[in-house]
Amino acid sequence: MADKINFQADVSKMLNIVVNSLYSEKQIFLRELISNASDACDKLKYLALTNPGIATQSGQMKIKLLPNAVENTLVVSDNGIGMNKEDLINHLGTIAKSGTADFVKNASDNGSAVELIGQFGVGFYAAFMVADKVEIITRKAGEEQAWKWVSNGVDGFEISKAKRDCNGTDIKLFLRDDAKDYIDTIYLRQIIRTYSDHIGYPIVLDLGKAGEETVNSASALWTRHKSEITEDQYKEFYHHISHNFDDPWMTLHFKAEGNIEYTGLLYIPTQPQYDLFQPDKKNGLKLYVNKVFISDKVEELIPHYLRFVRGVIDSADLQLNISREMLQHSPLIEKIKTGTVSRILKELKKRAKNYDDYMTFWKSFGVAFKEGIYEDFGNREEIASLAYFVSTKSGDKLTTFDEYISRCSEQQKAIYYITGDDVKVLSNNPQLEAFNEKGIEVLLLTDPIDEFWPQVLTKYKDFAIKHITQAEADMVWERKEKKADEGSLKKLTDMLTEMFKDEVGKVTTTEKLTKSPVSLTVENGQMSLHLERLMRNHQQQTAFASTRILELNPYHPLIIKLSDMMFDEAKKSKVEEVAKVLLDQAKIAEGEPVSDPSFFSEKMSEYILNAIS
Ligand code: ADP
Ligand code: MG
Repeated sequence: MADKINFQADVSKMLNIVVNSLYSEKQIFLRELISNASDACDKLKYLALTNPGIATQSGQMKIKLLPNAVENTLVVSDNGIGMNKEDLINHLGTIAKSGTADFVKNASDNGSAVELIGQFGVGFYAAFMVADKVEIITRKAGEEQAWKWVSNGVDGFEISKAKRDCNGTDIKLFLRDDAKDYIDTIYLRQIIRTYSDHIGYPIVLDLGKAGEETVNSASALWTRHKSEITEDQYKEFYHHISHNFDDPWMTLHFKAEGNIEYTGLLYIPTQPQYDLFQPDKKNGLKLYVNKVFISDKVEELIPHYLRFVRGVIDSADLQLNISREMLQHSPLIEKIKTGTVSRILKELKKRAKNYDDYMTFWKSFGVAFKEGIYEDFGNREEIASLAYFVSTKSGDKLTTFDEYISRCSEQQKAIYYITGDDVKVLSNNPQLEAFNEKGIEVLLLTDPIDEFWPQVLTKYKDFAIKHITQAEADMVWERKEKKADEGSLKKLTDMLTEMFKDEVGKVTTTEKLTKSPVSLTVENGQMSLHLERLMRNHQQQTAFASTRILELNPYHPLIIKLSDMMFDEAKKSKVEEVAKVLLDQAKIAEGEPVSDPSFFSEKMSEYILNAIS
């Protein structure tokens, strides 16, 4: 008796995309199936080590390919951990991560090919690119009952009891008419060598009467010596481990010796992964102990800001039989992490010497990497030295703290920055006027993380790092223009403070403006308006809105005029009206919405008409 089970809606949707699109690289299905077989062998190896007595029944672990020209089928077989009924239902009929189908659809709509399929944790379904029916016979290690799973890849699958001599999985593909090539052993051999040579288990090709042939090198790539590994092999291993299809931007293969020994084969991709900024994004390192795969979930192995790094860490010094949970907190893991991070930073420093090359990395991962300034106390300054920013003087290029410092005048003691949503808008912010006038460079920061790292990195080398709202005291300078009368100015700011008390904390004058009459800022030390907008977008704001300050430019003719009008009671309502429009102007320049758009546009039209009449 077979159970008939429907695919989860997402699976059908995705299969439909996979099968009906014209993908050039159909052969990647084999890479995915071999990768799953290799994972299954890894899992069994680990299980056998931690549960003596289980699963020695299957002998040496290997992956076997059996093409059959008569039936037009190809079987990919392994003697790994196998699956029971529950596993089959949970793993081959659902998609673990919600939203995956949409990502796949997007990727295929945008022409980035289904080669990415493994990246989404749905590599198995690639089988349906070449097969119109897939039949699986599998038996889980430690269990007696075997199971058969059959599907045409359209609406669902059937599961029934079956027989299998020992643990493992056979995946039989009934090849589509246009996929008959995959029974050709010459072609299969070539695909395996290209995509799967680095797999640590023998991949054996069944040649019928001619016997069997092991096609790959079957030794874990990272255990080989650098000089024996070609660039292509490094690349293919990267594709295998990352499920990415780009080339690695950086390949770092090292052996650490000393009180703890470990090998690392690490990669930084060229392209960012689609989920780099998803909250549940896990790191990309696999931990092996003496070539036995332990876990790809040891979060402590590498800091979160380096979550885009892919690869393998293998250490014989870790104990195999401690639980994965204990491993998380092992001091050895901490040491490996520290050592690995410093190697990565050192390598980045070398690569940063070539600006164009480094920008490839920075554009993909700079935003995540900058989180390290906040997150990694020990390497804070070093990470900061590897960060690049837009500034008022950087032109088309980005700039570093060190370059900024090299352009500073003798008197300047601080690195100034401003935060906002967009470089273009920021560079026109009135708050920058005096800085531009005096030739003081300001960093224009637009990433959400830029609101946070300056809270911990308050100094770089001997330079304080200051938001420009903290710069008022640094901005005292001789000005020759006519200034509003002190007494009337005081009257004006008092009146406006009272009038706008629901909208701004206070109204003051500033030396920072040169062109604009007004500008909006916040009390020194409070959350910036940009951060407030970010929080509001995440529905987290209202509890702690910053106190806004409306700053007036006492040198601006408009402000001088308004202050003069303060002594004429008859002009009071006109002063109020103009002040309202000015507050709106200040909001617009900061990127905030005006409180009453129809009032604002009505007044604008009136003033414009006056101006042109
Ligand atoms: P991923 O490998 O990223 O988890 P796949 O779609 O390739 O995604 O595979 C889904 C799941 O199916 C695997 O995680 C595994 O649990 C199970 N699976 C696939 N092939 C095998 C196999 N040969 N042996 C045991 N389990 C397998
Ligand atoms: Mg897989």
